[in-house]
Amino acid sequence: MSAMKFCRECNNILYPKEEKGRRVLLFACRNCEHQEIADNNCVYRNEVHHAAAERTQILQDVATDPTLQRIRELRCAACGHGEAVFFQATARGEEGMTLFYVCCNLSCGNRWRE
Ligand SMILES: [Zn+2]
Ligand SMILES: [Zn+2]
Repeated sequence: MSAMKFCRECNNILYPKEEKGRRVLLFACRNCEHQEIADNNCVYRNEVHHAAAERTQILQDVATDPTLQRIRELRCAACGHGEAVFFQATARGEEGMTLFYVCCNLSCGNRWRE
């Protein structure tokens, strides 16, 4: 835990805290009022990165899921990629099954329905 910081006033652990609106990462003590600006924005950047990675991961899971059927006769309208996976699901607020397509180009991730 080399990243752990300690309060210079009371020696308690400082917790990372994002200052809303300023995109600045602070380390704040929960025992006293002391807080300091992090010398790098590493933690904050990691969180942003994480959200994007999660989205890519979901797309990757869908696009590489061996249980999903693939179709090569279709072209993605967004990027022209020639392979998509498709699955049936119930669209929100609708009854019955609808066929959904997801573009296999991971940097595209376009979804459309039949
Ligand atoms: Zn303190
Ligand atoms: Zn596409």
